[in-house]
Amino acid sequence: MSDQKVILVTGGTGLVGQAIRILTEKEERRNDERWVFIGSKDGDLSNLEETRAIYNKYKPNYVIHLAAMVGGLYHNMSNNLEFLRKNIHINDNVLQTSFEYDVKKVISCLSTCIFPDKTTYPIDETMVHNGPPHPSNYGYSYAKRLIDIANHAYYEKHKCIFTSVTPCNVFGPYDNFNPEHSHVIPGLIGRLYRLISQSIFIQSIYKPENSNAESFTVLGSGRPLRQFIYSYDLARLIIWALRNYEEVETIILSVDEKDEVSIKDAASAVAEAFNFKGNLVFDTSAADGQYKKTANNGKLRKYLPDFQFTPFNQAIKETVDWYIKYVNEARN
Ligand code: NAP
Ligand code: GDP
Repeated sequence: MSDQKVILVTGGTGLVGQAIRILTEKEERRNDERWVFIGSKDGDLSNLEETRAIYNKYKPNYVIHLAAMVGGLYHNMSNNLEFLRKNIHINDNVLQTSFEYDVKKVISCLSTCIFPDKTTYPIDETMVHNGPPHPSNYGYSYAKRLIDIANHAYYEKHKCIFTSVTPCNVFGPYDNFNPEHSHVIPGLIGRLYRLISQSIFIQSIYKPENSNAESFTVLGSGRPLRQFIYSYDLARLIIWALRNYEEVETIILSVDEKDEVSIKDAASAVAEAFNFKGNLVFDTSAADGQYKKTANNGKLRKYLPDFQFTPFNQAIKETVDWYIKYVNEARN
């Protein structure tokens, strides 16, 4: 059908991309849209020629740009140079090729973790460039900030509607559960799953009265605060932005400030979802990262005052159930 808009989702095989795919195959399906989800096997977006080949193949009218080198605190801390360079290359190739192919709108993804480390709270959309980011992830942060700069420059020079959304921490099915690379929620889910599996295995052989495997280790002090958004809620908001959001300025896509939780609370929710009755132990030799990055979603609320976020414990339970079911196919 030639009157269909082609919407290309880079990073379409990842956490957020898969949530968008599932929604657009069901309740968000529209006959005048054709969605194309690509991952790194379809081409390396840090390579300009491979990026052009993808655009030449699909000729997108709209682009949701999610592809990025992404990782949790510990992956960022030891790889700032790679996060900086890889993401600068990917973003420059995607935006410039979108311009060359006359794409009508590009929605890229920033993150609340790129905001200044020393700041007043809550943070809002006006504060992205106000000061240096937290030292743990400056490579990723500066590469992401440059998307916002580029979006304004493309608008100034060519009137392109290249914009961005700024999510808080995301989690859900299809996340990256690799212990070295993962963010906190998939890191905790993977570790508790392995702990419980190991404990069941040991008990089935030795039947000890009380296994030592009753301590669930949380990295850091557990005190830092985070806002977590379920990937399906974020996907719904990104689809809304694609169809309705016309500003070049970024928009924060976050749960409300009152829904911020501590890492300890998040670990307790994971433990509860597994019905784990053991203790939480905090490994304070591991870094805590940024204490908090509390973001204000007032701009989003002006557009969508009644948007309902999935309750945190329910979303955690659904993610844990998904992981248990698909553990062999998940990114471990
Ligand atoms: P993810 O699960 O790690 O997925 C990353 C995606 O990018 C995958 O589809 C991957 O493809 C693709 N990709 C990576 N390098 C590529 C390359 N060189 N060429 C082509 N594709 C490449 O990431 P996510 O969590 O869904 O994140 C999506 C977006 O949201 C990112 O821009 C991220 O910065 C942003 N964000 C994430 C969070 C979070 O907590 N996860 C929070 C705020 C913002 P393959 O898997 O096929 O290799
Ligand atoms: P951030 O929100 O950008 O800092 O990234 P993360 O999603 O990696 O969250 C990091 C916070 O979770 C820090 O306070 C860590 O100390 C804490 N944390 C606890 N356990 C883990 C874990 O297993 N993996 C990760 N990545 N962080 C953990």
